[in-house]
Amino acid sequence: MRKKIVAGNWKMNTTLQEGVGLAKDVNEALKGVTPQCDVIIAVPFTHLAPIADVIDQQKLGLGAENCADHAKGAYTGEVSAAMVASTGATYVILGHSERRQYYGETSATLRDKVALALENRLTPIFCIGEVLEERENGTYLDVVKTQIEEGLFNLSADDFSKIILAYEPVWAIGTGKTATDDQAEEMHAYIRKVIAEKYGQEVADNTSILYGGSCKPSNAKALFAKPNVDGGLIGGASLDAQSFMGIVTAF
Ligand code: PEP
Repeated sequence: MRKKIVAGNWKMNTTLQEGVGLAKDVNEALKGVTPQCDVIIAVPFTHLAPIADVIDQQKLGLGAENCADHAKGAYTGEVSAAMVASTGATYVILGHSERRQYYGETSATLRDKVALALENRLTPIFCIGEVLEERENGTYLDVVKTQIEEGLFNLSADDFSKIILAYEPVWAIGTGKTATDDQAEEMHAYIRKVIAEKYGQEVADNTSILYGGSCKPSNAKALFAKPNVDGGLIGGASLDAQSFMGIVTAF
């Protein structure tokens, strides 16, 4: 059966020293509990190797927030999937709406990134989600379906089974405006149906679909209680060990 997962997305926050401190705090807090979900932190590239050295990855998974769409070579400033993997990290967030919006990531570049991530044994946390206008004009289900089809449906069923999906309505990210648990459930159930139509019910039932967008300790329980919500991708609330743990223990 599919995994329950809570993953933090630190974005471009924390200096190296602050980040190592935060990772240590989360790692320490996890020693005192038996979480009913997998716990992951996705951190800036610069933080990966030092954090890999101080956490127990049996209890706290480590991931990057992006990787390059080329394997290696003359791409100044880029960080490849192989480089990420060489730090000891095992996850990578791909297609976050901030990358689609500010860095022009398209489904074509994302297909390349997913392929490279998988080649390097990184588990992609693949983000999808509609903007406010698409929510309001009623096209949100179609928009998300297209993102999944274009970004992922070139994969074999075997490779698709290695993907974690994160539904993040863009209007809810960092805005304090959470999707209601019913809005999240409607979309998550729809995503599972779209996957079932392509890869069959078993693959769909085994795919973890996380919710992201202003998820916090106070609303996590209700969201995670929905049958198709398998956890959360957490931005702001993952920057404080206590609030992140408040979400982890919502399961
Ligand atoms: C995110 O960007 O992945 C996210 C969910 O952010 P926040 O929790 O801050 O809305």
